[in-house]
Amino acid sequence: MTEVATAGGGAYEIFIGRERLAERVGALGEELGERFANAPEPPILIAVLKGSTMFLADLIRAMPADVAVDFMAISSYSSNEATQVRIVKDLEHDITGRDVVIVEDIVDTGLTLTYLKRSLVERGPRSLCTVTLLDKSARRIVPVEVEHIGFDIPDVFVVGYGMDFQGRYRNTPDLYAVKDLARLANDPLLLVPGLFASAH
Ligand code: 5GP
Repeated sequence: MTEVATAGGGAYEIFIGRERLAERVGALGEELGERFANAPEPPILIAVLKGSTMFLADLIRAMPADVAVDFMAISSYSSNEATQVRIVKDLEHDITGRDVVIVEDIVDTGLTLTYLKRSLVERGPRSLCTVTLLDKSARRIVPVEVEHIGFDIPDVFVVGYGMDFQGRYRNTPDLYAVKDLARLANDPLLLVPGLFASAH
């Protein structure tokens, strides 16, 4: 799975390469296509901004089905040792009576997904399921059902293929594991020369 990348002083390595991502995302697209083969209306795929946008783009192109797409953005912050999640961009679709699929990049503690599910169930969808590219199941705090999982991964911090560190690194075709998060936190540009040939 891994291939050491030397630039960046060993601070990162390829975690899941583009071919493997394409293969697995393709299979998830087929799975979802089968799930909704006899649905009365196209399912609405709801991507959670911004990390899941690349995954969504590849996933829907792998689905042999008619689909609708919508976006939500949420923000989470910690106060008094509790993590609060709130919606900062809501859906354009009315999802009442519709089949809905939440498209996530990563399910980590499960707090975000639990909040999203609760908020969407209140709107009366016909069905609700979740597809996530990555599942850090070992880090779960809140048990939450995830019907379609791309890769179950250990507790590593990843960037690329849509996922960021402080807004950077979303636009790499491969997914990288950050081996020294403290170093990256001290120097957020650390991975730029290695990941982008024309680094400024
Ligand atoms: P949860 O509420 O499940 O703890 O958080 C899920 C969110 O945390 C993901 O959608 C993602 O935005 C962020 N996250 C968790 N792990 C990682 C990671 O390894 N890399 C990046 N870039 N974001 C992560």
